[in-house]
Amino acid sequence: MKVYRNAKLRHQKGLFDIWVDKELVYEIVPAGQLPLTAEEETDLMGRLVCEPYVESHIHLDYIDTANVPAEGTGSGTLFEAIDKWSDSKSVLKIQDIKERAYKGIKAEIRNGVQYIRTHVDVTDPNLTALKAMLEVKEEVKDYLYLQLIAFPQEGYYAYKGGDELVEEALKMGADVVGGIPHFEFTRELGEKSVKKAFELAVKYDRLLDIHCDETDDSESRFVENIAAEAYYTGVGSRATASHTCAMSSYNNAYAFKMMSKFKKAGINFVSCPTENCYLQGRYDGYPKRRGITRIDQLVEAGCNVSLAQDSISDPWYPLGNGNMIHQVDFGLHLGHMMSVEQIQNGLDFITINGAKTLSIEDGYDLKKGNKASFIVLDAPDELSAIRERAHVLLSVRNGKEIIVKKPEEIVKEPF
Ligand SMILES: [Zn+2]
Repeated sequence: MKVYRNAKLRHQKGLFDIWVDKELVYEIVPAGQLPLTAEEETDLMGRLVCEPYVESHIHLDYIDTANVPAEGTGSGTLFEAIDKWSDSKSVLKIQDIKERAYKGIKAEIRNGVQYIRTHVDVTDPNLTALKAMLEVKEEVKDYLYLQLIAFPQEGYYAYKGGDELVEEALKMGADVVGGIPHFEFTRELGEKSVKKAFELAVKYDRLLDIHCDETDDSESRFVENIAAEAYYTGVGSRATASHTCAMSSYNNAYAFKMMSKFKKAGINFVSCPTENCYLQGRYDGYPKRRGITRIDQLVEAGCNVSLAQDSISDPWYPLGNGNMIHQVDFGLHLGHMMSVEQIQNGLDFITINGAKTLSIEDGYDLKKGNKASFIVLDAPDELSAIRERAHVLLSVRNGKEIIVKKPEEIVKEPF
């Protein structure tokens, strides 16, 4: 038996001891109240403990490709980045993609992530990236739950045979059906691609996550197709609409009509604050839109929203570091969600909300009887954690410490 003493738990007053027996949480009790002897003890000294971070949207096969093979993007637009990637990806081999993915995975694990949903580009007749990521998924499973999306970066139909490659990827073992309707040639083809994605999700019993309306075009409304298909097929909360940037440009009458439909359909939303504000607004002068979906209104309507990183240095976005709390900081600012209560709930976007998006229903919550998987932040509470963008000092997975860090040490200061 091992005990982590004096933990601050989210939304609870006082400090607690977390007792761990092998892989499981044996008991969580107010500090000092369980008269047992532990073989090992760690004093967390009042630091905040929460469930592991969940990265609900990233492209691990693109990590560090901002300069492959030519220099980075010039215009900073989504569409230029897709064209550049199309020219670049043929040079990447399985080993190369694996090394890139590992760079991202290591960065994320170091920052307290234990669950990642990654899009994997399948618009490639050889499915090289998928083969690489299937190997990685198996190799990292003791440290990380990795969910793979069959993502047709260049479209179901805009890329000839894209629909067949998505299906092939599902047969090979991809967990989630992807899509990119706003990239298809016509609205009709975009709608057809959403329909096809749901057909595949039902046929192969998979989750679904579509890059949706990642544009400032207020006429881009594929999110309504996703909601309708999720509702009528019964896929419901197993479906996710990623980005939905256009929602910030919709007129209010339409947006408000859709809120109750989204709730009824049960679909999840993922917003990627740093990348969305970087790629959107590129065709605007001033005033300039920032492409952040209506996070506050979706939350208010009772929809599940998670925040995610999207890229670590690729043609779409040159920065990114796998530290999810940065996304919370940006998301709260850009989403105008800065009341004390909203900040205190901010960690939900990269923990329990992300877990819902990935459909991790059982065993995610930190409670008695569940797997002992949690992280320790170098902060006494939620508000301080977000204000300071607190470091993750400890990451425990199934009872094993997989990341251990020392608190920041100040060697000298003037007062
Ligand atoms: Zn993406």
